[in-house]
Amino acid sequence: MFDDIEKGSITVIAGPMFAGKTLELLRVIDQLDFSKKRYFVFKPMIDKVSKDKIESRWTKSKKAIVIKDSNELLEVVKNDFNNKNDQKLFAIIIDEIQFFDEGIVEVLDELANNGLNIIAAGLDRDFLGSPFKVTSSVCGIAENVNKIYSICKVCGSTAYMSQKIINGKPVVENDLDTVVELKSKAQYIPVCRKHFVKKGK
Ligand SMILES: [Zn+2]
Repeated sequence: MFDDIEKGSITVIAGPMFAGKTLELLRVIDQLDFSKKRYFVFKPMIDKVSKDKIESRWTKSKKAIVIKDSNELLEVVKNDFNNKNDQKLFAIIIDEIQFFDEGIVEVLDELANNGLNIIAAGLDRDFLGSPFKVTSSVCGIAENVNKIYSICKVCGSTAYMSQKIINGKPVVENDLDTVVELKSKAQYIPVCRKHFVKKGK
């Protein structure tokens, strides 16, 4: 993943919920720790109580800087560049990339052009099956896109979508939570294309 040392690169890990996207980030973090590289871990502020860590459902976690938008991310990294640390910043890890503003695309492109290796994970589709625009755009400027999948709750085949369930029924229209909100009372299940329930289906 880090062959282009000093050159910069963008890698996206995209997929539905329960695919292990954050776990994959934690694996990359392990490698960065092992090779003693400097890096930052970022996650977007989704609500006022965003926890300052990224967390996999497979129990591991890592402290993260919670930021409100792409500008703030750029500020944090620029400040680090200006501090002239002995060891240059090598990578930035970003979770939940889909919740960033569109400005993140230009920011990441600029940071990669300045030699940073960016590894971002996020949902590629929302619970209505539509692409998350920000994830798609970041995929568009990435060197590597790694699509990972989960297992369909209905048939056990590979699942690339997240179905939102409230009171046992699939949600097929935008309700008050217009985005996938992890804290809401809704449940999510991974499903394949065949078993994803859409409006009118
Ligand atoms: Zn299925």
